Amino acid sequence: CGIVGYIGHREAYPIVIKGLKRLEYRGYDSAGVMIYDGDAIKLCKTKGKVADLEQKALAEMTTTGSVGIGHTRWATHGVPNDVNSHPHESNSGDLVIIHNGIIENYAPLKEELIKRGYVFHSDTDTEVLVNLIEEIQIKEKLKLGKAVQVALNQVIGAYAIAVFDKKNPNEIVAARLGSPLAIGIGEGEYFIASDASPFIEYTSNAVYLEDGEMANIRLHKNMKVRKIKDDSLVDPYIQELKM
Ligand code: GLU
Repeated sequence: CGIVGYIGHREAYPIVIKGLKRLEYRGYDSAGVMIYDGDAIKLCKTKGKVADLEQKALAEMTTTGSVGIGHTRWATHGVPNDVNSHPHESNSGDLVIIHNGIIENYAPLKEELIKRGYVFHSDTDTEVLVNLIEEIQIKEKLKLGKAVQVALNQVIGAYAIAVFDKKNPNEIVAARLGSPLAIGIGEGEYFIASDASPFIEYTSNAVYLEDGEMANIRLHKNMKVRKIKDDSLVDPYIQELKM
């Protein structure tokens, strides 16, 4: 399973698709991609291979846009099918998430969200997390990064996640606990991936998030890394990648 993300000035789709192919060695049963074109969120997901995803995307959507996230899924909660594939959207349709790992306490969280009127379309633990983030964002009037942080402090499990919010499209929030996550830093662009292979051809500067860290990745701003638990800022170590 793997995650890929891009925010910058290039076309995101080819970077994300190529990145997913480089992560195929990690194993998966389904794949999906989200592209934001400056106006709308476009989603395509399918059971099967990244090559199947490409075919479907070609038939179903326009792929232009300079923000994108992609996922290869190794199902833990919910059978491998199109609906359970990532990315997952929140009920409002504003938030989009990709997730590798497991949310162990998803059942009580889901029950609580259903009581508050949330509707679930998939059987995944991940769809619970994205709606939990949305509920916190709305209820506590928080920006995405803060809402993600509050949500992750309620979650038991393992994750590498990337979250996008259409209301603030110059940003991707990423976090990890127990699953790997690397961030590539370019000129006016950022890359996110399970390992550096999807972005090594574009930049040689990478930050590997440590367990329990999250990153606010904003276009034309320095990335902010902090500890999920206590909100303390971390000075990220920028590693030079060797080709
Ligand atoms: N637990 C999530 C799911 O079943 C993510 C699985 C993964 O790591 O790909 O959808």
